Amino acid sequence: MLASIFRPSDLTIELKKLAHEQGFSRVGICRAEATPQFDRFREWIRRGYAGEMRYLSDRCEAFAHPDRVLAGVRSLVMLAMDYKTAPPSVSPRSAPFGRVARYALGEVDYHDLIHARLQVILGRLASWRPDAVSRGVVDSAPLHEREFARLAGLGWIGKNTLLIHPQAGSWCFLAAILTDLELDVDRPFEQDYCGTCTACLQACPTQAFPQPYVLDASRCISYLTIELRSSIPEPLRESISPWVFGCDVCQEVCPWNRFAVATTEPELQPRPITNPLNLRQLFYWSDAEFRRHFRHVPLWRTKRRGLLRNAALALGIDGAHGTAVPLIRGLYDREPLVRGACAWSLGRISNQSRVAAVLLRQLRNESHVEVRREISLALATNNRPIRQNRTR
Ligand code: SF4
Ligand code: SF4
Repeated sequence: MLASIFRPSDLTIELKKLAHEQGFSRVGICRAEATPQFDRFREWIRRGYAGEMRYLSDRCEAFAHPDRVLAGVRSLVMLAMDYKTAPPSVSPRSAPFGRVARYALGEVDYHDLIHARLQVILGRLASWRPDAVSRGVVDSAPLHEREFARLAGLGWIGKNTLLIHPQAGSWCFLAAILTDLELDVDRPFEQDYCGTCTACLQACPTQAFPQPYVLDASRCISYLTIELRSSIPEPLRESISPWVFGCDVCQEVCPWNRFAVATTEPELQPRPITNPLNLRQLFYWSDAEFRRHFRHVPLWRTKRRGLLRNAALALGIDGAHGTAVPLIRGLYDREPLVRGACAWSLGRISNQSRVAAVLLRQLRNESHVEVRREISLALATNNRPIRQNRTR
């Protein structure tokens, strides 16, 4: 068999077989070439839709061609690994819980999981073709994975800007193997099955789609709760809850996801601790507890301060009984980002004189300009009932 896999067609078959063995549900191959997506991406950056994601804007030109990721690349092996799991737990009403995007509910960071699988494939490829130069990437490289996945026949890019497969939907991670080998390419996926549907555009809590097929990431809850390092803009805070890490709304409403099959990967199954996440509890965890629970999962990306910021906002928006105590604790946190978010939420949750007294006292002690501003606004808000508390 080894002699025969030197032919591109045989090598292609063996590679696809191996990728399936490694847990990738769909595999397609396309040529490494420049695509019109690059011009759209440049325009997207120019409009400011990348927000503060400097790792995109600073490397914009590197997206022009896959040879910036691997010199001499000829073929891209595009890989999709499904991550749909059982439906997220419904939040009990007894305590405020936050939602975590499905891809982050498991026991591992999918980058680590997929990277290990890519290494197996690359190792085998090197044994078959020691002369080849290849590289595996998942998320980190300047590569338009969705567009290349479409060119490799893995689905179309929907109005929600995600890759959708007619049978498998959009709950999937994408990865790529770039190689200087010539491989047999698949037919691009040319159809667009979104049709007249606009469910995702209408359901988005922050109206993050300025038009179909275009996402203003600076408004997207995934960006706001994960990528944004500073305070979440005030006008968008109200729309975020119950999400505290990512958002799945535009996938949950997509009709093509109705029949998506749940993954059987054990490490991607939801952990009880994040499904759903107890928001009050987060304010009582030590650094060591944060590390123990989140060090090896995607939630680590926000660090403690980002997650507490998100949790504070969700608690304030929820406004359930008992949320003031953890928020007051957070008002004394070592991170200004957390103190500011807690102040905002304390201003919302009640018109209690006790809360006002705490805010006033902290205003006298607080030296951070931004937090002082949040406390002052909270004090102004605290005397006015904003709205009925929400029940979920
Ligand atoms: S992930 Fe959520 S916030 Fe972002 S575009 Fe989709 S629905 Fe909107
Ligand atoms: S919800 Fe409708 S419009 Fe949006 S991606 Fe799915 S099919 Fe397309």
